[in-house]
Amino acid sequence: MRLLVYKYLAESEIALSLSDLETYFEKSDKTTLYRTLKTFEQKNLVHSIDDGSRLTKYAFYKDECNCDLYSYIHLHFHCTQCDTTICLPGQKVPSFSLPEGFMATDANLVIKGCCSTCNHS
Ligand SMILES: [Zn+2]
Ligand SMILES: [Zn+2]
Repeated sequence: MRLLVYKYLAESEIALSLSDLETYFEKSDKTTLYRTLKTFEQKNLVHSIDDGSRLTKYAFYKDECNCDLYSYIHLHFHCTQCDTTICLPGQKVPSFSLPEGFMATDANLVIKGCCSTCNHS
C-alpha cells in the first residue's frame, strides 16, 4: 500500500490532497492513507502545503532534502481557478530573521493566481 502511494505521489506533477488520494485509491480507507502520508512526512519524503484552500496538500520532495529548513523550503503556486497547487522548488524563500530565541520549523509560502492552463481558456 505504502509503495503505491509513494509511487503515485512521486509521479504526480501537482500537490495532492488526502481526498485526491481517496479518489485514486478508492478501495483503501482514509485512515490508512492519512497514516501513510504522515509517515512519509516524518521521513521527509513529502511535505504538506497549506495553500489557503480547505484541504492540506502533499507533495513529494523532488530534490534531495538535507533537512535544513532554509534549503528545502520553497515557494508554491496555487491556482484559484482550478484549485491546483504546484511546487516551485527553484524558488527559495527570501532570507528572514527571527527575534532572539525564536526558531522556525515551517513556513507556508504560497503565491496565488491563475495557472497557464486556466490562463489560456
Ligand atoms: Zn488553473
Ligand atoms: Zn513544495
